[in-house]
Amino acid sequence: MVLIMFGAPGVGKGSQAAVLSGTFQIPHISTGGIFRENVANETTLGKIAKSYMDRGALVPDEITIDIIMGRVLQNDCRNGFILDGFPRTLFQAKHLDELLAEHSFPVNAIINITLEDELIISRLSGRRVCPSCNLVYHLEHNKPSRAERCDRCNGTLIQRADDTETTIRKRLEIYHDQTKSLLAYYRTVHPVFDIESQSEISETTKHIFEALEIPVS
Ligand SMILES: [Zn+2]
Repeated sequence: MVLIMFGAPGVGKGSQAAVLSGTFQIPHISTGGIFRENVANETTLGKIAKSYMDRGALVPDEITIDIIMGRVLQNDCRNGFILDGFPRTLFQAKHLDELLAEHSFPVNAIINITLEDELIISRLSGRRVCPSCNLVYHLEHNKPSRAERCDRCNGTLIQRADDTETTIRKRLEIYHDQTKSLLAYYRTVHPVFDIESQSEISETTKHIFEALEIPVS
């Protein structure tokens, strides 16, 4: 099973990828994660990638693709894998398709988790974190028992800069810009399932399983 996940920040893409990874016993490969791994292990590609990142430049598509292919050709991916955060460009998507076909990996489906921007904004802008113990709260769905205070360690809760409305709107704009042509391309070559993000993680999972025609236990 080869799955590619799409979804704007705040739709719960990572949580769904984790569930699918457990269900199918296939690795969840997040681009951020393997980049950090390659840089930390000082692999040849990691060193090259780091030289771009240190300059604040984008890592070229070819290097990103090499890093991803290096990961998916490892033994634990022989039954499939889930890509999360990759591809990001049309070039990467087309090139990935060619390489996967060469290695006889069919892409089974693209899972596109959707949610209206306004709902994403209300989800993310209500988020508060405890800077001391990293526990995450939500002003509506997961309130601390005392306002602005962490239940676990009494720390003063903060809103991450990433979670302010202006920043979220900017991130969403970039996300939509980036994925529009990608999804249009994928719709012509692979099954794309648009799954609306539900407030319960398990509900969203149920809809994904239905789309993939997996019996829901
Ligand atoms: Zn805390």
